[in-house]
Amino acid sequence: MNDTSLHQDGGVLSSAEDTALISEVADFCARLIRFDTSNYGGGDSRGEREAAEWTAGLLAESGYEPVVLEAAPGRASTVVRIPGEDREAPALLVHGHLDVVPAEPADWSFAPFCGETRDGVILGRGALDMKDMDAMMLATARSWARRGVRPARDIVMAFVADEEDTGELGAGFLVDRHADLFEGVTTAIGESGGYSVHLPDASRLYPIAVGERGSAWMDLTARGAAGHGSRPGSDNAVATLAATLTALAEHRWPVRIVPGVAALLEGLSARLGVTVDPADPASLAQLGEAAKLVEATVASTLNPTMMKAGYKHNVIPSEATAGVDGRILPGAEEDFFATVDALLGEKVSRSFHSFAAPVFADHTSAEFAAMAAALRRADPEALVLPFIMSGGTDAKAFARLGIQCYGFGPGLTPPGFDAWRYVHGVDEQVLVSSLEFGVRVLEDFLRTGTGSAARSRDAER
Ligand SMILES: [Zn+2]
Repeated sequence: MNDTSLHQDGGVLSSAEDTALISEVADFCARLIRFDTSNYGGGDSRGEREAAEWTAGLLAESGYEPVVLEAAPGRASTVVRIPGEDREAPALLVHGHLDVVPAEPADWSFAPFCGETRDGVILGRGALDMKDMDAMMLATARSWARRGVRPARDIVMAFVADEEDTGELGAGFLVDRHADLFEGVTTAIGESGGYSVHLPDASRLYPIAVGERGSAWMDLTARGAAGHGSRPGSDNAVATLAATLTALAEHRWPVRIVPGVAALLEGLSARLGVTVDPADPASLAQLGEAAKLVEATVASTLNPTMMKAGYKHNVIPSEATAGVDGRILPGAEEDFFATVDALLGEKVSRSFHSFAAPVFADHTSAEFAAMAAALRRADPEALVLPFIMSGGTDAKAFARLGIQCYGFGPGLTPPGFDAWRYVHGVDEQVLVSSLEFGVRVLEDFLRTGTGSAARSRDAER
């Protein structure tokens, strides 16, 4: 990269470069799908090392210096830092996972790892979750190398293992053991968000994720008096646990509108001219497809998911155990655990199987505005609003480094294309046209960043 080429095209894509960008993104997505990177959980996976090395090879071919890091045999992630024009400006991390959830071929109408393109659609596991984004990242980096373009600030790209299980062998490992790779990074973008959602008035919403509910997977233990099954019993651990689980399941968690959700509701109400009661599913239905973005994030939730007790019909056991899945809104942690403890009472104790705190970023930031601006340059009618994810992503790991994490993997699909159906479902597929839209928006945002805003924030540090 030299200074002459740096300013040749002012960063704007020539039509030949645009053609190269969109042909590479489709090719890379298809080729990534052909690596079977199924993550079976519990440390059992395949293909991540091969996919990570292939990814690193494409980056090295373009003159970058990627590293491939292995957390355990085969559990590899690729990280590369692309130097920006202003090396002192706060850096940005883009992360995508290389693993996928398993696919049962008998349930699919095509081979899950075929990576074939038919009628403008790329087929296979990972097409939407999230080899599409990985391909956009790769195609962007390679386009910059060909054009001699440097992004406004350092961009770190991470292609990680193990997101579909705990993330411990991917993002978690990088954060714990290789934090130096993320030096100077203040903002990250990753999975979930930036894609089109069609509203009832035929306009398009692009929701950007600004947070995630936390997850508390807990083990509950009820204790009582062991005894003969024929005795009149009162202190029965099985009965105590059953009553407690019923109380937990029936608890109505208070509706709590956090700032990201409030902005989403306000923006949608204004666009659609409706008044919405977020606590009422029937009222939320006025938002059409966008109701899904709201309904699981207006309260914390807790669901019993496992239970175990006893070994014989005529023996009352002294102990009964259960597993529960708690999801906690940003800012609601204290309330959540106080409520759980009150519902558990004295005879049931709890311990964590795993805990990840909620994450939360600012939807009024310059970064959010820059993502919204990039979307509007590609789709002038785009309504861009924040939302909170009901589940979790690798953002939880990167947030531990103090990084503000957003979900931004742009895409545009026509009404009726139900992405929710394909992600973790059967016959997963992505439209080539959506990849093309997405890579243009991503390239634009990553290249231009927040402009002067990034520099002035740096001066404040
Ligand atoms: Zn995913």
